[in-house]
Amino acid sequence: MDKNKFLELIRKVPKAELHLHIEAVPTINTIKSLYAKCNGKEISDEEISELFTYDDLNGFIQSFVKIQNMYTSVEDFNLVFDDLEAYLVQNGIVYTEVFFAPTAFLKKGFDYVKMVEIFEKRIKEIKEKHNITIKLIMDVSRTFGLENALHNYNLLKENPCDDIIGIGLGGAESKGPAKEYADVFEQAFNDGYKVVAHAGEDVGPESIRDSITLLHSMRIGHGLTAFKDEELMQEMADKKIPIEICITSNTFTKAIIQKASEHPVKMYFDRGIPVSINTDDPVFFKTTLLDELWVCHEEVGFTMDEIKELIKYSFTTSFLSDEEKTKWCEKVDSVFPNE
Ligand SMILES: [Zn+2]
Repeated sequence: MDKNKFLELIRKVPKAELHLHIEAVPTINTIKSLYAKCNGKEISDEEISELFTYDDLNGFIQSFVKIQNMYTSVEDFNLVFDDLEAYLVQNGIVYTEVFFAPTAFLKKGFDYVKMVEIFEKRIKEIKEKHNITIKLIMDVSRTFGLENALHNYNLLKENPCDDIIGIGLGGAESKGPAKEYADVFEQAFNDGYKVVAHAGEDVGPESIRDSITLLHSMRIGHGLTAFKDEELMQEMADKKIPIEICITSNTFTKAIIQKASEHPVKMYFDRGIPVSINTDDPVFFKTTLLDELWVCHEEVGFTMDEIKELIKYSFTTSFLSDEEKTKWCEKVDSVFPNE
């Protein structure tokens, strides 16, 4: 099947995306607007190209932070939600769990409650307009230490909001080992929040183990190095611990793999580990969810039937209710093109 035909067919199939950072959704036009508002001048082409040039995870995170620094008011999130809305519609995504990392914004003095008010308003509007459900997961961040993470979690707890369902651990993994954040994750887990962690993205499988055992992580973000630990893979298959796979992101940061065909996602899938396909940071990695599914089919070797299973995993490994999961999986079955 050719790529355009594939994209056209798969676009019509309802999909979920579970590993997506809201700060990595703004288009170049939005970045230009944010920059101009922040600096009182246009961003140069060199600065734009510099912003999108990185050869490892830390380099990428620096660009991520530079863009966060361009926000001058909570209202700037409206532009970002416009881009998120367009992205979800273009990809036929009906449900998503999106990370937002408040630390950089709180440090520049943004009001948490006002920020969340804008999120809630936009989420409601997008639901009404497109019947797309957006849930948020607060990335408490592994970059600024445990105390900062606890502070973020307390804000979440003190300002309950139905749209924010849990916490995640993102940021530079090599600089913030999962085990250092056990306290905050233990609390959130015991308080009934969903908890997830980026683990095994650019460090070894021990980070995945720590996230499962010490953080109660209900899903593993990336899990790229799980293949290095046979026992761990078996445990994840037996206990059905899902992995949020981000193939293009992993080839961009080049920590473990250089190209999509080297990605262990097919090995995980064949062993029975539930895997969802995600973009992580679509604008930074110049990808979309549809592109990622195409890569799975064309470069990784998933058959069309298996692509359908991957799409169903994106619902079954989400934090939707069992009824919703069943409803969407039936919908996928009925809409998915027969070869
Ligand atoms: Zn991520």
